[in-house]
Amino acid sequence: MSDLEALKKEVPPFQIFDLITEYAAQGYIDPTRIDLLKWAGVYPQRPQEDGFLMMRVKVPTAEFSSDTLRVVAGISEDFGRGFLDVTDRQAFQFHWLTIDMVPQIFERLEPVGLHTKGACGDTVRAVIASPLAGLDAREVIDVRPLAAAMEGTLSGNPDFQDLPRKFKISITGTPELEGIHMINDIGFLAHRVNGEVGFDVWVGGGLGAVAHLAKRLGVFVRPEEVVEVGRAIAGAYRDHGYRVNRKKSRLKFLIKDLGVEKFREIVETEYLGRKLSDGPEAPVARFGGNDVLGVQPQRDGLNYVVVATTVGRIDPRKARHLADLADRYGKGMLRTTAFQNMVIPHVKTEDVAELSAELEALDLAPKTTLRGTTIACTGNQFCRLALTETKARTANLVDHLEAKFSGLDVPFTINLTGCSNACTRYQVADLGFMGANRTDKDGSVHEVYNVHLAGSIGQAQRTGTKLKGAVPAERLNEYTDAVLSDFQAGKQPGESFVE
Ligand code: SF4
Repeated sequence: MSDLEALKKEVPPFQIFDLITEYAAQGYIDPTRIDLLKWAGVYPQRPQEDGFLMMRVKVPTAEFSSDTLRVVAGISEDFGRGFLDVTDRQAFQFHWLTIDMVPQIFERLEPVGLHTKGACGDTVRAVIASPLAGLDAREVIDVRPLAAAMEGTLSGNPDFQDLPRKFKISITGTPELEGIHMINDIGFLAHRVNGEVGFDVWVGGGLGAVAHLAKRLGVFVRPEEVVEVGRAIAGAYRDHGYRVNRKKSRLKFLIKDLGVEKFREIVETEYLGRKLSDGPEAPVARFGGNDVLGVQPQRDGLNYVVVATTVGRIDPRKARHLADLADRYGKGMLRTTAFQNMVIPHVKTEDVAELSAELEALDLAPKTTLRGTTIACTGNQFCRLALTETKARTANLVDHLEAKFSGLDVPFTINLTGCSNACTRYQVADLGFMGANRTDKDGSVHEVYNVHLAGSIGQAQRTGTKLKGAVPAERLNEYTDAVLSDFQAGKQPGESFVE
């Protein structure tokens, strides 16, 4: 049994919320309990000996008000030295915190409906909800109530506080436009079969050092069954998942060993007590979530406008400005996306140009799609596991590419991480960079990036091909430029990189 497994048996992980109150009062964290902070979305940032913490905050249903954004911006300014990140699970992230600040931050988050329960740790993580829910004409079903119910049922639930590892769920109601179901432990993908709305269910997706794309469970789940089925699958994982080796504990390994048919049988017989209906495969997005960019028409005649942050980092003063823009041009609501971006919905057509100009002035509108389709993880600025820098380097890369490739007619994804853990999913990007270190003969250590080419969670459904060798960090711009130039020169109109 690993140390963490032993700790989870000794202390029910959600007790950490009580312990945090004690630690904050004492200004001291019991080092034997420090790993449990993750269940409260809090963990030590690099270097750990300095004692600073980072915090991830869930955004249930991915929808929030302009006032909520002001609260988040205020927390970042008052406690987090002005660092505010949007993560690729539609969450917010703060840095530079100390333990005494944590309860004060919780007090500010609670009234605006945000929380950190299970934002990290071996439990049910943020439920990814379609950022277009209720907006797009192509939508099959508005998944916000389902995402809220799933989050409310599983998140922070003591029954799921001790899973073998993390457990990720996505619910998508507009599968032909976006969808990230391939890389979640459970991906619910809405579609219509003979006029009836339901969900195609995918299980066992997960990246990390060993990437597995999800497999179809082969069922058709009606909306009223979604939470029950999510709970049953999470239960099956809790009880049957592997706990000896944490590197082999994700659901994907259990599914690989059992086969999806056997796993379905376990879910049906041991957890649901009934058979699920069989169902056909749902149609999936061509680009796997990247074509929500720009300005798009809503089904009610209004528009949604995508706000492209640069690698998910946004200055809190800009965030306040963004909140004002959502009030002025929309209905005071925003969304976070799984591409580290935000959406302002409900914009009148006559206001689109003015809003776009305002976003451009804030450097929050994509001059090309590349700013919106390039993501980077936390990296060695704050992450203890990182081998390379990520955010600044990738922001520099976007600046370098933006003008030159403004004519690209298809989305092109660049995902960069600071280690093999794949927090920003380098295996399913057109161009995925995985940070590593290379030691020369003279002992000097250099940052490099391994390259994974032409991965896709859209229709192509493939993990990228890992190339031999690695790109030195200082040649990242040059290398990417060459790949994009070659692609642009040789492609047919509308042809994607993976094609
Ligand atoms: Fe840290 Fe690695 Fe995850 Fe990046 S991919 S945030 S470096 S663990």
